[in-house]
Amino acid sequence: MNNSVTRFAPSPSGLLHVGNVRTALLNFLVSKKSNGKFILRIDDTDQERSKDKYIDSIKEDLSWLGLNYDECYQQSNRITLYDKAFDILKAKDLIYPCFETPDELDKKRKRLITRRMPPVYDRAALKLKQDEIKSLLDSGKKPYWRFKLSSKKIKFKDLIRGDVSVDLAAQSDPVIKREDGDYLYNLPSVVDDIDMNITHIIRGEDHITNSGIQIEIFNALNSNIPLFGHNSLLVSENGEPFSKRNAAASIEQLKEKDIDPNAVNSLNASIGSSVDIEAFESLDLLADKFEISSLSKSPARYSNNQLDKLNSQLISNYDFEKISLLLKDKNDFLDAEFWDCIKQNISTLSEVNDWIKILNEPIEGDFNLEENYLTIAQDLLPNEPWDSKTWDEWILRLKEKTQKKGKELFMPIRIALTGKTNGPELNKLILLMGYNKVMERLKRK
Ligand code: GLU
Repeated sequence: MNNSVTRFAPSPSGLLHVGNVRTALLNFLVSKKSNGKFILRIDDTDQERSKDKYIDSIKEDLSWLGLNYDECYQQSNRITLYDKAFDILKAKDLIYPCFETPDELDKKRKRLITRRMPPVYDRAALKLKQDEIKSLLDSGKKPYWRFKLSSKKIKFKDLIRGDVSVDLAAQSDPVIKREDGDYLYNLPSVVDDIDMNITHIIRGEDHITNSGIQIEIFNALNSNIPLFGHNSLLVSENGEPFSKRNAAASIEQLKEKDIDPNAVNSLNASIGSSVDIEAFESLDLLADKFEISSLSKSPARYSNNQLDKLNSQLISNYDFEKISLLLKDKNDFLDAEFWDCIKQNISTLSEVNDWIKILNEPIEGDFNLEENYLTIAQDLLPNEPWDSKTWDEWILRLKEKTQKKGKELFMPIRIALTGKTNGPELNKLILLMGYNKVMERLKRK
């Protein structure tokens, strides 16, 4: 693959979710692998549903993920290009005006469905004579426009799905321009893909039929056809598709949870593929390993657990310098020993905060601990100076004295010191706390 040019083309009608950014990532990786170009194209021809605030959030989210684009375009600024293509298609008799109201179309559809026939548009408007069209226009009726499909089976080799065939005979001629003059998705998309020299179009499987339709438009505009790859849709843990309306797993939310963007990218590049899920510390490393052909046709299941796991793998490998950079505002509390102590036990950056709190603020809650045991623990607590052997020494004394073993021996101490049943190794933790704090916490009831 040489200098592939790819694009991510979101409609700015909602916040991005993990499924959307998976498509962005796949396009990014295909271009990155070949030293090509990655373009952000905002599909905002639908003026009613497009909002500037979503354009801003799309850009912010991509930048958070490190999916930096080389160029950015907004379709609403490119209408003259679409007008030109429209005129070309019109001159070739490939588009025709239609006048049916939504109500009339709906009735036609329902009639076909009751007769158990596919609800394909009957092309009644194509049969209108020139003078009929003229008198409709003269009476003030505004047309909308359809593209005339052939009845071919369009075949192409999909980068992910292999041989794909789209039967255009089973499709209604797509509306490409509405009554109000706004273009619908198909024509601007093809015009831009041609104008931007897109070589690879990676998008969701819900666009397979559109690809068949668009191949006819590419041909009608005498253009080369890019390669297509239709990735399977991402579904949530319970098998539901993600949507812009369902805010779960919006990028916004992942940011709030302090998830590392590399964890999101690592997960997104490997779910629904034949490769093992692995944590990559950078997009460069990810691009080196990525092969689009490893993606599979079956739905990709997103898992919060897997994301947390990858996140914790990534974070626990960060050195102190990197973590201090990420947690600039916490630097008063962070030091290399603290980081070394907790890093294996956290899966998000916000958990660093939790541990800062546990170590520095009083522990609240009634844990029903055996008071007598804690008193013995106080009596046997070695005096300072402490070192890495202090914990072992203390626990051995306790064992000999109480005959307790394993969990019974150390769990009450862990709970008294941290208020939790799990966490960093106690031998390191007590060194961070020091004698006075350990003593103070053992005295709690
Ligand atoms: N705006 C379309 C979407 O968000 C773009 C599809 C494409 O990549 O062509 O689904």
